[in-house]
Amino acid sequence: MIDDDLRDLYQEVILDHGKNPRNFRRPADASHEALGNNPLCGDRLTVYLRLDEDRNIRDAAFEGKGCAISIASASMMTDMVKGKSLAEARELFERFHKMCTGDDDGGIADGFEDELEKLKVMSGVRQFPMRVKCATLAWHAMNAAAEGEDAATTE
Ligand code: ZN
Repeated sequence: MIDDDLRDLYQEVILDHGKNPRNFRRPADASHEALGNNPLCGDRLTVYLRLDEDRNIRDAAFEGKGCAISIASASMMTDMVKGKSLAEARELFERFHKMCTGDDDGGIADGFEDELEKLKVMSGVRQFPMRVKCATLAWHAMNAAAEGEDAATTE
């Protein structure tokens, strides 16, 4: 039963991002970085951002080790926030977090239709509270980095 559940959870998209993560690198010109630590699962990811003076995200990347879900989520997150303002990235995080925790169905609106549609592949984690931490880790780290904090933990 667990295997079936996991098979649903680890959908093709997640596996693809997990195996071939986008933006898996350490940019030499990053202006902000933070470590995301999820000790329950053993995920440790560092998220790098390059913000311009108007707080737009010019570059986003990450490095580290983690389960397929945490890596896939970091891969998707870095792809999506690049080119957005920090305020937009945070709003998207808020929506994604709600999607993962089941507070709403990700109510597709407000200009993030494409992003939320893609992030839906992650919404299966809502049945697995521990996995929600994996799925949101990179987003927490992105937020911490932007705040000038050096770490974010799920604990
Ligand atoms: Zn994990």
